[in-house]
This record gives sequence, C-alpha cells and structure tokens, in this order.
Amino acid sequence: MRPFVYDRAATIDRAVQLGAHTASGQADAPVQFLAGGTTVLDLMKLDVMTPQTVIDITPLKPSLRTIETGPAGLRLGAGVTMAEAAGHDGVRTQYPVIADSLKLAASAQIRNMATLGGNVLQRTRCGYYRDPSWSRCNKRVPGSGCEALTGPNRNHAVLGVSKACIAQYPGDFAVALVALEAQVEVDGPDGRRTLPFEAVHRGPDQPHIEHSLKPGELITGFFVPPGAWTRSSLYLKIRDRASYEFAIASAAVALDLDGDVVRDVRIGLGGMAYRPWRAREAEALLKGEPLSEDAAEAAARAALKGAVTHEDNAYKPELGRRTLVRALLEAARMEA
Ligand code: FAD
Ligand code: SF4
Repeated sequence: MRPFVYDRAATIDRAVQLGAHTASGQADAPVQFLAGGTTVLDLMKLDVMTPQTVIDITPLKPSLRTIETGPAGLRLGAGVTMAEAAGHDGVRTQYPVIADSLKLAASAQIRNMATLGGNVLQRTRCGYYRDPSWSRCNKRVPGSGCEALTGPNRNHAVLGVSKACIAQYPGDFAVALVALEAQVEVDGPDGRRTLPFEAVHRGPDQPHIEHSLKPGELITGFFVPPGAWTRSSLYLKIRDRASYEFAIASAAVALDLDGDVVRDVRIGLGGMAYRPWRAREAEALLKGEPLSEDAAEAAARAALKGAVTHEDNAYKPELGRRTLVRALLEAARMEA
C-alpha cells in the first residue's frame, strides 16, 4: 500500500470541503471517502486505487443513519449499513425488493460494515481491473485498451457495453433502486441537490469516469417514492454458489396487478449490464396485459434484445431471460 493522508470529517460541511479536490466521477480519484471501507481499502491494498487523501466519514454515521418509512415513501440515510436496511421491518414489509437485494449480497460481516452510500459506488469485479499486472484496462489506465474483449470474459456484461469496456456493474441494491425510480440526495460545494438514481452511473464511453457526482459531493441519502407496486416486489439473484457471491444474473421486479392484468410494473436487471439496468421495453409490453407465462417470456426477450455477447458470456442473455421470467411469475404469486 502507498502512503496517503488520513483525515476525519466530523460534519457534512467538512467532508464536502475536504472532498472538493475529487476529480469528478473518476474511478481512481485522488480523494476518497472512507465509509465501511470494504471497497476502498480492498482496492488500495491491490494498488488499484491510489488516493492521496482518504477522508473518514464514519463520524457522520449518526446523522446519515436514519431510516424513515411512511405514506410519503422510504428514505434511507447513506450511512445506514446494508444489514440495518435489510433487517428493518418497514423495508422488509413495504419494499421487499430492497431488503432482498441487500440480504443476498456479500457476507454477514461485510453487510455489518458496509454502508448504502459506499455500496452504490462499489467498483466492478472485472479481474483485469483489479489486477494491475494486466496492462490493458481503460477503466484503470485510460486509453490502454480492454483485455476482457479477447481474454476470458465469462462474468462480463452484455447490456450497455462498448468496445471500450464490457465490465459488469456488480452491486445488487442499485438494481432495486433503479427499478423503483429512487432519487439520490447529495450535499456538495454548491449546496444540496437531488438527482434520479438512474443518472448516477455513467455509460462506458469513458470507462474511468464512473459516476456523475461533482467534486466533493457526498451522498447523504436515497429516497424511494411510494407506489402500489412496492409491496409485491422481489429480487431474484442467480450466482455460481448459494451465498457470498456476486450475481451472474438478477432481476428486481415490482408488480401491481388488477386480477391477472398488470396495472403497473418496474423491472431492473443486474449481473449482466454495465450499470444498474432498467428494462423499460419489458415494462411497456407487460402493462395493461394479463401476466401469463407467454407474456413474461415476451417481456424477457425484449429486455435482452440489445445484448452483445463475447466468447465466454454467450450464455448470459438466455440466463437473463429465464431469471426475469421466474422473477415476474414469483412476484405475481406474491399478489395472489
Ligand atoms: P467504501 O469502501 O467505504 O467506499 C466505496 C466508494 O464509495 C469509495 O469510492 C468512496 O469514496 C465512496 N463513498 C462511500 N460513501 C460515500 C458517500 N456517502 N458519498 C459519496 N461517496 C461515497 N456487493 C453487492 O452488492 N453484492 C455482493 O454480492 C457483494 N459481494 C461482496 C463480496 C466481497 C468479498 C466484498 C469485499 C464485497 C462485496 N460486495 C458486494 C461489495 C460491498 O457491498 C461493497 O464493498 C460495500 O457495499 C461498499 O460500502 P462501503 O461503505 O464499505 O464503501
Ligand atoms: Fe478494464 Fe473494463 Fe476492459 Fe475490464 S472490461 S479490462 S474494467 S476496460
């Protein structure tokens, strides 16, 4: 590990002031916030992230650690741990897709340590990115190329990719947030602002620029609007082993049925896209129609229509389709 300056921020204003030197959205920005540390310390030890300054924001946790549920929606503070949100009664009963996405992620130890703010900004698990002995990685070394295009790429993304990068966004919680049209609250040098969660993660045009937060902006919380669909919602995660593993395919589904007719539906896909993925084409096909197995299959085909595969991940579109069909039919049974 390289030498770095360690600072502690006792207030949000101080964190924002110290963080203002962060290069906007850059994966390896010179200033990093330290929340649970389960991504940032990991990558510093691997010499993938080499920040000059690490700002410990754990003293802010009490003010960023609130969970509010009610008729107006759900608000989750950015300092809430994954375990706290997954185990919260209101989240489990009113927003099961969120509780499931967190409960099925990582390990109990990591869920106790990691925060929601850090979770959404976790980095890809692409092996070429995480191992600096590979010289070609546009995300780690801008302009160097992409080793994954020709090397083993079984776990890489098939949706939203480009020739510059086919890395998969690995998180689960973000897939639930994108499906439920969540908003992100940030505090920064220019004051507070709220932006759609879907606008946080950028596409692969410049892989080393991962998100749209401005320098110094700190995520303070997430807001999930209320909707008739949030109660009948679930997160289905397919992985190589039953626990402590990232998704190779996942679906976040939230459903509002009138009898067997879909009044409204929200769908997010994980384990197969460059960023948390909203499947709007599939939603459009389902709305106003009876939810049969055939309808679910047609929607799943539409969701994966734009998939671009490489040598080892050609299995993914079919796995993604089957995952989504199963998630839709299981969510329908929750409503029955
Ligand atoms: P940190 O490591 O402290 O920070 C991560 C990044 O976010 C840093 O760049 C930091 O600057 C930034 N940051 C942190 N807080 C804020 C904030 N409030 N505002 C702005 N920027 C901020 N995740 C899954 O979803 N599913 C899994 O199955 C899964 N499995 C895992 C298995 C292992 C072995 C490991 C190590 C991790 C796994 N993870 C998984 C990832 C884990 O969930 C994340 O590492 C964790 O959620 C990150 O949160 P943190 O608080 O530790 O973030
Ligand atoms: Fe780097 Fe992206 Fe290619 Fe992986 S897929 S080697 S992260 S450029």
